[in-house]
Amino acid sequence: MKLFDLPQNFVDDLVAIRRDIHANPELGYLETRTSALVAERLRAYGVDEVHTGIAKTGLVGVIRGKRSGGTIGMRADMDALPMQEKNTFFHASKQAKVMHACGHDGHTTMLLGAARYLAETRNFAGTVHVIFQPAEEGGAGGDLMVKEGLFDRFDCERIFAVHNRPDLALGKWGTRAGAFMASADRFTIEVTGKGGHAARPHLICDPMVVAANIMLAVQTIVSRNVSPLETAVVGISAIEGGDLPAFNVVPDTVKMTGTVRTYDPAVRDLIEARLAEMVQGICAAHRAVGTLKYARLYPTVINTAAEVEFARQAAAEVWGEANADANYTPSMGGEDFSFMLQKRPGCYSVIGQGPALLSDGMVPLHNTRYDFCDEIIPNGVRYFSRLAERGLPL
Ligand SMILES: [Zn+2]
Ligand SMILES: [Zn+2]
Repeated sequence: MKLFDLPQNFVDDLVAIRRDIHANPELGYLETRTSALVAERLRAYGVDEVHTGIAKTGLVGVIRGKRSGGTIGMRADMDALPMQEKNTFFHASKQAKVMHACGHDGHTTMLLGAARYLAETRNFAGTVHVIFQPAEEGGAGGDLMVKEGLFDRFDCERIFAVHNRPDLALGKWGTRAGAFMASADRFTIEVTGKGGHAARPHLICDPMVVAANIMLAVQTIVSRNVSPLETAVVGISAIEGGDLPAFNVVPDTVKMTGTVRTYDPAVRDLIEARLAEMVQGICAAHRAVGTLKYARLYPTVINTAAEVEFARQAAAEVWGEANADANYTPSMGGEDFSFMLQKRPGCYSVIGQGPALLSDGMVPLHNTRYDFCDEIIPNGVRYFSRLAERGLPL
C-alpha cells in the first residue's frame, strides 16, 4: 500500500538526478555544479523563490501553500568526500579522489523530489523551506548557514533532516528523542624531545616513548575518569614520527591526532581537561614538551521529543507503523545538522537502505564501494512531503 502515488517518470527523473550528482561529486564549499543543478531544478518545479549563495554554495527554496500558516524547514546536505571511488558502474565518480560515499547525493535528490511534489500539489497551509547545505563532512556548512542568518531570513518553526543508513534494513526508519548522534571533536598532540643517535639514548630525549605513554594513558580517560553511566570515545587515529627506514635516528618530535565523541557537554569538558593534564604531566615527567590543540567541531545532535513523535507519525504513514522506530540506537558519529537543532526544535532520523549491495557483506558509509540505494527515493520524497502536509494542515 502506497501513501500516494508518484508517477514513474517523476521517480525516473529523480534517479537520473541522483546518478548525475553521484557521477559529479564535489567537496565541501565547492559544490557549485550541484548547487546550480539544485537551483535550476527548483525553478523548473515552480518553487516560489530560490535563494542561492548562502554559506558559499548553500541554497534555500521557498514553497508557499494554498493558504497562509506556519513554517517548516527540511534540510539536505550536498557534499562528497575526498576519496577514490572503486565502483565501476556507469554513474561512478568522474572526479579523481572525490566520491559520494556518504549518500548525500541521495539526500539532495529526495529533498528535490519533495520540493517538486509540494510545489505541484501545495496541499498545505503555510511555508515550506527546503534547505540545501554545503560541507557537512567536517566543514560545518550547517553552522555557517545558521551564522549567515538562515533562520532570520527563512522562518522555520521546526526542522527535519535524514541520513541513509546501510546498517539499517531497507524499509525501516529510525530516530530517538534526546541525544541521537555524538559531539565530534578533533585533537592534535605534539611531543617535542631531543632527537639524536638511537644508540645513545642518555644523550637525547626520546619523543617516541613519551608519545607511546600518552597514547596508552588517554585510553584511561573513558575507563577511569568518565562515569561508567556516561558514553564517550577517546581515540588516537594517526601517529607520525621519525623517517622510515632510518632505524638508528630518533626524531625531535612526534605528532598524533585523534577524536573525542560525547553526548554530555560536561563529559566533553572533562575529557578536554584530562587530555591537557595528561599531555602536560607525561611530557613533564619525561622532560619533553607537549602541546595539545583541541578543536570542538560538531555539537551533539539533540532531537526534541515533540518533533520526534511528529516525525514518527509521518514515518509510520510512509514505512508502516512497525517499521518506524522512535527508539532507534544512537550512534557516536557526528553530524552538523546539530547546529541547526541548537536553534530550532526538530528531528534528525535515518532511513534504512540495507542489506548489502555487494555479495561480500554490507558496504559501510565512507567505503570506496558505497552507493546510495535509489529504491529509497520514493519513500524519502513521501516522508519529507508528509512532514510538510501534516505539519501545516489546510
Ligand atoms: Zn559522512
Ligand atoms: Zn553523511
